[in-house]
Amino acid sequence: MEKGYEVHGLIRRSSNFNTQRIEHIYVDPHNAHKARMKLHYADLSDASSLRRWLDTILPDEVYNLAAQSHVAVSFEIPDYTADVVATGALRLLEAVRSHISATGRSHIRYYQAGSSEMFGSTPPPQDETTPFHPRSPYAASKCAAHWYTVNYREAYGIFACNGILFNHESPRRGENFVTRKITRAVGRIKIGLQRKLFLGNLQASRDWGFAGDYVEAMWLMLQQEKPDDYVVATEESHTVEEFLEVAFGHVGLNWRDHVAIDKRYFRPTEVDNLKGDATKAKKVLGWKPRVGFEQLVKMMVDQDVELAKKEKVL
Ligand code: GDP
Repeated sequence: MEKGYEVHGLIRRSSNFNTQRIEHIYVDPHNAHKARMKLHYADLSDASSLRRWLDTILPDEVYNLAAQSHVAVSFEIPDYTADVVATGALRLLEAVRSHISATGRSHIRYYQAGSSEMFGSTPPPQDETTPFHPRSPYAASKCAAHWYTVNYREAYGIFACNGILFNHESPRRGENFVTRKITRAVGRIKIGLQRKLFLGNLQASRDWGFAGDYVEAMWLMLQQEKPDDYVVATEESHTVEEFLEVAFGHVGLNWRDHVAIDKRYFRPTEVDNLKGDATKAKKVLGWKPRVGFEQLVKMMVDQDVELAKKEKVL
């Protein structure tokens, strides 16, 4: 929206409202004539809804950021995960293809949210040429979506890009991802609302970047002359334990006094070590991350301390 775009979000129906994280930019279309963000109900499991909204909105750029995005949960609901993450991407690509052939709008551009999870157990550093070895139903489904996107580009000449983004976080991260789970707990422990935090594998290493920086890279991919695939990463890797160290340390606490291990959070197959090589994105897109690891952790902790203070008053 800062770039002047009109943004149409396709949202999934839920019995509770699930738009809290975009409430600050949402303008009720009844009050504001010129609301630049509009929300419509659709679902990646409903092909007709995708085609109908493409034909109605007539978008220039389509970003597929939808997923059942939790790796551990994908072991519990693998079939649903594959339907949304893999076949969902195929449905959207197919909707784009048929929309183009019906309307001639061949300038439309498509972004597919790939994931560093696709590399799985292939050792780092990982770049665009690294073989995939997915380690979860989520990761295997992302691999399928990746290859569907490549195929639609090659078969039909659609401007379609895969962004292979390493973990990207922000204060808006869902609370069951390890980063936010930790910073949320740090806030609550600091304010006296909680004493213990239960986690799984502390030795896993991730290349954690700031989501705001990564969205810029997605946009840059769609502004190039030719569609292509890019790894987006900070090129720095840290263990969950290092994350704990910085997060608790930032508010003067020692994580060892508060963290306990719960075997339920271990995964049947783990991705031990992710560290990206973003040379291509840097060279071709002129992209580089602005927010470093410590800054990211502190940003998330600061927000969650404030959130815990508000919770305490309530
Ligand atoms: P992922 O990289 O997409 O799976 O992102 P997550 O934030 O869910 O997990 C990152 C790493 O943290 C994985 O290696 C997990 O096994 C590890 N981890 C350790 N404890 C936890 C936990 O309590 N919750 C989650 N979500 N991950 C944990």
